[in-house]
Amino acid sequence: MASSASASPTIAVRNVSKTFDTGTHALASADFTVGQGEFVAVLGPSGCGKSTLLRIIAGLIPFDRGGEVLVNGEPVTRPRPETGVVFQTHNLLPWLTIEKNIRLAAELRRIDRAELDAKVRAMFKLLRLEGFEQRYPHELSGGMQQRTAIGQTLVLGPSVLLMDEPFGALDALTRDHLNVELLRIWQEQRQTVLLVTHSIAEAVFLADRVLVMSDRPGRIIEDFRVDMPRPRNPQETKGTPRFGEAVLHLNKLMGVV
Ligand code: ADP
Repeated sequence: MASSASASPTIAVRNVSKTFDTGTHALASADFTVGQGEFVAVLGPSGCGKSTLLRIIAGLIPFDRGGEVLVNGEPVTRPRPETGVVFQTHNLLPWLTIEKNIRLAAELRRIDRAELDAKVRAMFKLLRLEGFEQRYPHELSGGMQQRTAIGQTLVLGPSVLLMDEPFGALDALTRDHLNVELLRIWQEQRQTVLLVTHSIAEAVFLADRVLVMSDRPGRIIEDFRVDMPRPRNPQETKGTPRFGEAVLHLNKLMGVV
């Protein structure tokens, strides 16, 4: 089997910096690749440029001259169809059922009706939301709303999934639960994932590699490989010495201990 970080990476970020029009220098010379099917977390303190980096890779904002961002070998200049983005706060429309919310973006892309029906059914199963199709967002818990938002993105069939603190607004227990769900989905579908978080434990539990960023302007100060077997489950993984060592190492790096 080819190494996940083989010659042609799915995401390539070369010397990417970002200074906003306001003069804020948000990101400094980011340089890394993500291999096909890899799960990479971007970890750093609040305001260090993590979201900026993710939005650049998503094609939502431009970056400074001299850098380059490639997805599947092609320069990113605008949002690309194979790239899906999940944000911290969902954009569910309150007047539509969650089924209609999930269908909406796919319908705008004119996906064939019968094909979409099958995809939406499969999505409710995958997300364990069966039986809730005709509920409205306000009738669901925060965790279920966020799962629906993930469904809105996954139903489009992205091969690259960019997630910006997707569970950041949830309570700790729901967050842990959704981390497990996310791993289950990723193990089934194997998208290439880049997930932004400021939680060290979340990054170590989920990712193959953790890119650690400094304070603003964010620089990648370490590309840390999480050397733990999969599939991972919270009881076993979080109880291992290796997990503890990784968390301690990253804590030290971020100046927490
Ligand atoms: P993080 O995701 O790590 O919390 P961000 O990438 O959101 O950080 O922000 C990095 C810095 O860039 C912050 O100082 C923020 O205020 C600034 N910033 C983010 N977006 C904009 C914008 N659109 N215009 C000006 N400054 C911005």
